[in-house]
Amino acid sequence: MVDEDPYDNALTQLASITEVVQIEPEYFEMLKHPRREVVVYLPLKLNAHDQLTCMGYRVQHNNARGPYKGGLRYHPSASLNDVRALAMWMTWKTAIIDVPYGGAKGGITVDPSKLTQDDQERLTRKYVDAIERDIGPEVDIMAPDVNTNPQTMAWIMNEYSKLKSQNVPAVVTGKPIELGGSEGRVAATGRGVSICAGEAAKTFLKKDIGDTTVAVQGFGNVGSNTVASLIRMGARVVAVSDVKGGVMSRRPVGLDVSYEKLLETSASKGSVSKLEGGELISNEELLELDVDILIPAALENQITESNAGSIKAKLIVEGANGPTTPHADKILSRNGITVIPDIVANSGGVLVSYFEWVQNLNRDHWTEEAVNSRLDDKMRRAFRDVLRLSQKEGIDMRKAALAIAVKKVTSAMRLSGWH
Ligand code: NAD
Repeated sequence: MVDEDPYDNALTQLASITEVVQIEPEYFEMLKHPRREVVVYLPLKLNAHDQLTCMGYRVQHNNARGPYKGGLRYHPSASLNDVRALAMWMTWKTAIIDVPYGGAKGGITVDPSKLTQDDQERLTRKYVDAIERDIGPEVDIMAPDVNTNPQTMAWIMNEYSKLKSQNVPAVVTGKPIELGGSEGRVAATGRGVSICAGEAAKTFLKKDIGDTTVAVQGFGNVGSNTVASLIRMGARVVAVSDVKGGVMSRRPVGLDVSYEKLLETSASKGSVSKLEGGELISNEELLELDVDILIPAALENQITESNAGSIKAKLIVEGANGPTTPHADKILSRNGITVIPDIVANSGGVLVSYFEWVQNLNRDHWTEEAVNSRLDDKMRRAFRDVLRLSQKEGIDMRKAALAIAVKKVTSAMRLSGWH
């Protein structure tokens, strides 16, 4: 099904805005294709008998507005087409949140849970060795994504710095604070998602976020920090999940636990679904709960043609990249459900990545308050810009966001004389 290929979905989304934005055919063609794709084989000797060969990708979609920027994910089903879609979405995201970057993404086809920490480190270093010439603080800057984290970024920074014989912190963002990471970066994507949820609740549900019920799919970096932030804002988080399943509460006040208890359950028992006192549910059931706000924060293609008609939430705020397919978008729109698209809702991560890069280049370190207050302002401004265009043109929030991004990117391409 066409729906299932994220790159096809990204292209369908791009094509959908030609009714709103005039793009010359040659620029449209350039936007459809990544400028550069790097594919590497990564052989990894596991022990005396076993060897693993993984595919590694770095796709650089567009750098008209600045150096390529985007995360690196480790996943057994990561494919070149997934990475192409994610790279294109990064180009739109950096334009909407207004940071001077282009868009890129990396991936390694591997299940890191099957590797020791040592093997993960060796694999990461091999990947850096293989793509060394394609990255750099003024060229392409990586950050954490699915199954990668600040430790992964520390290995990348160290390997790259060794190859260059100098300390190069700005080659990655999302590093540990001790190595030049920014305050607030770990929580940034989730914080931004919850700010968007708050703004969207006010606008579309006419409710304060504190009066809403929320279900969050995924309890990794984005999901868990979104939950933490929503709980602080007073929202009633009634269900959470991870790859192993979910848990929900029928109590009107939501799950009767603190964020710390959820984190502790996830860490000690291997899944939030093991939370005591909650009711076990599947990920499919979580998506169809009767809540005010649904936040998919796991992977792409979760809300599709087959379950979109059963979604009962009135508002979807996309924490993950590409969780809703174009077919699903049409069904949701018919049913009066508003979607705050990924390229707006989860852009807080790349925004604070930009703050980290600026701090690194200036050998500076900002306080958490300074980071968070800039993040909050920029997120609200991006949300309002997209809302304004959506209302002016009578188009949905995804089309409005894409239109703003594509206009900015094509304008930079034209001014630079890309054709
Ligand atoms: P992560 O690896 O930290 O967490 C992923 C979570 O999703 C885990 O809880 C995992 O158990 C769960 N999960 C995986 N497969 C699932 C499935 N099939 N069903 C239900 N749950 C599943 O990853 P992350 O960094 O939180 O990224 C999550 C999403 O947010 C991705 O789409 C990513 O591209 C996007 N994103 C991440 C960032 C960031 O700063 N990390 C920024 C913007 C967007």
